[in-house]
Amino acid sequence: EVRVRFAPSPTGPFHIGGARSALFNWLLARKQGGKLILRIEDTDLERSTRESEENIKASLRWLGIDWDEGIDIGGEYGPYRQTERLDIYREYTEKLLASGQAFHCYCSEEELEAERQEQMNKGETPRYSGRCRNLSQADRERFVAEGRKPTVRFRVPENQQIVFKDMVRGTVSFESNGIGDFVIVKSDGIPVYNYAVVLDDALMKVTHVIRAEEHLSNTPRQILIYQALGLPLPQFGHISLILGKDRTKMSKRHGATSVEQYKNLGYLPEGIVNFLALLGWAPPGEQEIFSVEELIENFSMDRVAKNPAVFDIDKLNHINAHYIKQASPEVVTELALPHLKAAGYIGGELTAGQREWLVKVVAELQGYISYAAQITEHIDVFFNDNIDFENEEAHEIMRDADIPRVMELFKNKLVELEPVEPDGVKAILKSITKELKLGGKKVFMPVRIAVTGKMHGPELVNLIPLIGKERTLARMNSLLA
Ligand code: GLU
Repeated sequence: EVRVRFAPSPTGPFHIGGARSALFNWLLARKQGGKLILRIEDTDLERSTRESEENIKASLRWLGIDWDEGIDIGGEYGPYRQTERLDIYREYTEKLLASGQAFHCYCSEEELEAERQEQMNKGETPRYSGRCRNLSQADRERFVAEGRKPTVRFRVPENQQIVFKDMVRGTVSFESNGIGDFVIVKSDGIPVYNYAVVLDDALMKVTHVIRAEEHLSNTPRQILIYQALGLPLPQFGHISLILGKDRTKMSKRHGATSVEQYKNLGYLPEGIVNFLALLGWAPPGEQEIFSVEELIENFSMDRVAKNPAVFDIDKLNHINAHYIKQASPEVVTELALPHLKAAGYIGGELTAGQREWLVKVVAELQGYISYAAQITEHIDVFFNDNIDFENEEAHEIMRDADIPRVMELFKNKLVELEPVEPDGVKAILKSITKELKLGGKKVFMPVRIAVTGKMHGPELVNLIPLIGKERTLARMNSLLA
């Protein structure tokens, strides 16, 4: 059985990169009929918060990434929050200390820093020198008497090649001599990531560790711990970095980086998931729009690329626009509301009638936007009656000799039209072309400009009923005065 995990550190906003790791694990689990575990890696006590943990869970749920075991829902191998597993880690630490595969280190931060400086001055790569590797009983007693609180370090074997086959990167190898004896438990008794992660993955029977490339250099350390404890190795797969379009590491400079920001801008989870899946995974063929079901069906680790993935916001917008177009106007309206309020189009609570009207307006606009917040860039024409010609070209069109007759006829017919509905408006416009023997464009365009000031936009025959008879006539009169 495939058992994968997503193991975020709850130390801040939930980023796009984390969401992509979660997604790849989830897709693999769903494809293989396996299990996804959600584990919280909160051993960094200073930076970990419950708020961040809640944000991660909420974002995962919003994306539709569900888990089979883990935080909140439990499972056979819990608890699933690392700070609740300290007893478990302690037990293994005792074993490693007893066998001599780990040792207490009494060096202070200052001593270690001085050592690092010295090595750097000599032009060496700094690494722990092994000062406490072989302490005598007397040394140890002296340090304890001084009140020093030891860390626990893993005794890294010398002259070993650590080789593993990465699902994404192929064969990877490291020299153990490049790795100093590293801390596995800090002096306050809290294990470090590289240690806790191994015990958790092993005890939770994780078969595939799929995570970001930045952890590749941690993997040899982790493998040494697996080996020291005689634990079976999982398969590792390190997915590539996400870069901005300028090929530097994705950061705030490139725009929104957290899932919540995209949610708040009115992106749809289907769009984000579709886009994230393509961030490093190459589907066979040219298809770009994938439903979740299609992603599960097509996903495989052997099509995950080694080279960095580039975060292309235009591509995300293109993909999301597809899902926005398909979404119900009610959903898009709901997502757009906070932005319409912020932009001042909507004051307080909407009456039922206002909401109904707004949903119809949104339905007219959702084909033009990539995410809900963009509604504010298009909606002015429905709210603002103080219109003006958008440019000289529009103005020029309105100087045509036929215009006064077109306008007169249209206004007279609109006054008579009851109720004002798209079919009726269309019939009026058609009848004018016949009566004046003009081409369709010679009628539709000037009326559009007279009502909106603009040459393009939503369907004219839908627009006018939404603006209403009175306001349409008022606009035409004021623009043509
Ligand atoms: N807690 C680690 C992180 O958030 C997880 C790394 C891993 O998946 O092993 O980066």
